[in-house]
Amino acid sequence: DQALVRQVMETIEKEHVRFVNLEFTDVVGMAKCVTIPVEQFPDCLERGKWFDGSSIEAFARVAESDMYLFPDLRTFTVLPVHVRPQALNREIADQLDAGDVVARVICNVMTPDGEPFEGDPRATLLRSLELAEAMGYRFQVAPELEFFLLRFEDGGPTPLPHDRGGYFDLSTDLAATVRRQMVQALQQMGIVIEASHHEVAAGQHELDFQAGDALYIADSLMTAKYVLKAIAAQHGLYATFLPKPFYNVSGSGLHTHQQLIDVRTGKNAFFDEHGEYGLSEVGCHFLAGQLAHARGMCAIVAPLVNSYKRLVPGYEAPVYVNWGRVNREALIRVPRPGRDPQHSARIELRSCDPSCNPYLALAVMLRAGLDGIQHRMPLPPAMDESLFLRDEGEPISRLSRLPATLGEALDDLRQDALIRDTLGDLIYEGFLEAKSIEWNEYRKHVHPWELERYLPIF
Ligand code: GLU
Ligand code: MG
Ligand code: MG
Repeated sequence: DQALVRQVMETIEKEHVRFVNLEFTDVVGMAKCVTIPVEQFPDCLERGKWFDGSSIEAFARVAESDMYLFPDLRTFTVLPVHVRPQALNREIADQLDAGDVVARVICNVMTPDGEPFEGDPRATLLRSLELAEAMGYRFQVAPELEFFLLRFEDGGPTPLPHDRGGYFDLSTDLAATVRRQMVQALQQMGIVIEASHHEVAAGQHELDFQAGDALYIADSLMTAKYVLKAIAAQHGLYATFLPKPFYNVSGSGLHTHQQLIDVRTGKNAFFDEHGEYGLSEVGCHFLAGQLAHARGMCAIVAPLVNSYKRLVPGYEAPVYVNWGRVNREALIRVPRPGRDPQHSARIELRSCDPSCNPYLALAVMLRAGLDGIQHRMPLPPAMDESLFLRDEGEPISRLSRLPATLGEALDDLRQDALIRDTLGDLIYEGFLEAKSIEWNEYRKHVHPWELERYLPIF
């Protein structure tokens, strides 16, 4: 709308913006960007910015490679000085014009006919949100982003956590400073971080996002990943979102707290003071829907070969398809409501990890939950004691588990029609193709562990 355009133009003038990064995301969750001189921006708002989509992974077939980027002006923001690409190298940065201000705006990808491009993950999420809206709900989420800070040495990240901190340790070391800078930079870009703390493992940290609309949070997660990397790099560190960087050490998750807000009343549709665990019927069905599609959506929320090294027992990561209140191994947790239960009633999905494409991940979470509501799926009993306490005689097959490998997760994805419908054919096929190649490549490799374990014997 015109007021927003005017506001953005004023910012451009006032902040002396010279370039605008037009950002979007590919199917496998990589951030992409076309940079234009600011003089081109008004034209881009009117006609979109043309680009060739065919060379982007799983994005478009060559025949339909003409794509247009249309800025979503609500996401327009000047890049904080620490985040500008040229500032990554201090020496070069000093030689550059300090006034070289870059802004960014996240774009929707459109076809030449002006239709949302079916291969754009942001469009997938938008479609799912519209569906929820038609059912009377807004999807509100709050992610917990975990990551490691590593030393960046000899031109590559070395597997050497740079500090000795532990869970919630109060530390005054470099990492604490780096974390504060990260939070500050995100704040300057309009992203609200409620808390940040050291995580369980050495070198591991977490940022907790304030709850917000799913689209805004997906945009914020894409932004946070490059902002954190840029700021870490300024301190000679490498921020990694790899789900399981080290053997025998906690992995990094992207726990996602979720609520549906009733559009008419503006109230939390998950809350009912008389419900079990303070959850309403809607909340229970939503939870049941996510349990039912937990395996089908696993490849989307945990998309790397490496993701499945995280989903193993013993590291507070989920392994089974279950839910509970206190069980740290539960796939879905219903956190104890705080002082304002109407506000805080929510469910927390714990299988997701930060390597996922947040647009697709939130879209499948939402559709899985809505499916539970539509089919009034019954909620299985909570599993609040640790799994290891269960009756010895109880067969393990009764407890369905999450896929153990990416290959298994891809098979489960192929069998889930709802998840396929959520993604749309183009993304579904593009994702499966890219990930099958990844899985098969991994399978063909002989890994160091095999040589270490077997070569001396066989
Ligand atoms: N790092 C754990 C994971 O892999 C989660 C720890 C926590 O509960 O915050 O999901
Ligand atoms: Mg955590
Ligand atoms: Mg959590």
